[in-house]
Amino acid sequence: MTCERRCWVEVDLDALRNNLSWIRHRVGKETKVMTVVKADAYGHGLKQIAGHLMQNGTDFFGVANLEEAHAIRLTGKDWPILMLGSCLDTEWAQAVEWGVSVTISSLEEVVRLHRIAEHQKKTAKVHLKVDTGMGRLGCQPGSVLELAGFIHSTNRLHFEGIYTHFADVETDVAFTRSQKLLFRSVLRRFGSRLLLPSFVHSSNSGALIYDRTLVGNMVRPGLLVYGIIPPGHRKPVGAMHRRLKPSLAFYSRVTHIKWIGRGDSLSYGRTYKARRRAKVATVSSGYGDGYPLAASNKAEVLIRGVRCPVLGRVTMDQTLVDVTAISEVTAGDLVTLIGTHGNEAVSATELASRTGSIAWQVLTNITYRVPRIYRGTRAS
Ligand SMILES: *Cc1c(COP(=O)(O)O)cnc(C)c1O
Repeated sequence: MTCERRCWVEVDLDALRNNLSWIRHRVGKETKVMTVVKADAYGHGLKQIAGHLMQNGTDFFGVANLEEAHAIRLTGKDWPILMLGSCLDTEWAQAVEWGVSVTISSLEEVVRLHRIAEHQKKTAKVHLKVDTGMGRLGCQPGSVLELAGFIHSTNRLHFEGIYTHFADVETDVAFTRSQKLLFRSVLRRFGSRLLLPSFVHSSNSGALIYDRTLVGNMVRPGLLVYGIIPPGHRKPVGAMHRRLKPSLAFYSRVTHIKWIGRGDSLSYGRTYKARRRAKVATVSSGYGDGYPLAASNKAEVLIRGVRCPVLGRVTMDQTLVDVTAISEVTAGDLVTLIGTHGNEAVSATELASRTGSIAWQVLTNITYRVPRIYRGTRAS
């Protein structure tokens, strides 16, 4: 690319491949991996990431809506995809049409899906979700048998999976144990008369990092695929948390440098007032690129490997930072908003914790206008 960029994301495809292979190592050969690529592959760019994960043998994709499923379908015609959300009215038919597996939480949903599959003369693939304590989607554990029985009794529905989702696996051992007990007790109700489906899954990234025993024969990591460890109070299990590499870096440029004097204020609302002379750099990115407004007076960026505090309010397209400590800083210098430079690193987790957010949101907030550039052996 010849045109200079004000703000861009670099995605390291080798890191992504490394992460997937460590996840595989963690779960063993018998366990399938569903890589979760919702929200534009956690801000990395769905089309590229899905293609790359296919090349590296992901078993399944998890998505949040049908547009995401469709984007994957364009490259991976028959690749297994699960809609993790529930379908809107018009989406059921489309999902069946495209062979996308759907999540079922109630008898109403499964009856409706069956009617649509009959009408289309197609088979619909179903994952039954059980609510063991997340409280978002899923049927009550007590109604699993009724729902599973209905799915089995029809020839248009293929009972492909059953799953649940953890609410606080990173921190709450007791609650996680109760969720697992409940899920296991549901699974035990299946037997020779009512067969378990092929895929049983429960583990998100947190479970893979903090929980020794995984329930099921498939896992559903999102954040880990992108090399980020979900923060928690529990002690990580094994060595995987030391092997993963962040796959995303977020960069910008210095566009202007000036000195300000004691008492001078900066940016909208004048929330920063200099207590001494300071050298200030203007950086060509802001909340319009997804650099959080909450970073105002809170976060730090890297320039020439030095941490530079954000001064005043982040604006839509520009941000001010303190570069007093760097004598040789010039316009055009690289600014690392997320990533490493020299011996310093600002992780998505750090930016999240400084801005009252979470790494998932920091990544998915990077906006559409920020080009994603792919690096690594298989970058195209
Ligand atoms: C988003 C999501 C995941 C992945 O979560 P991470 O914490 O990023 O690993 C797994 N399962 C479901 C149902 C999800 O919605």
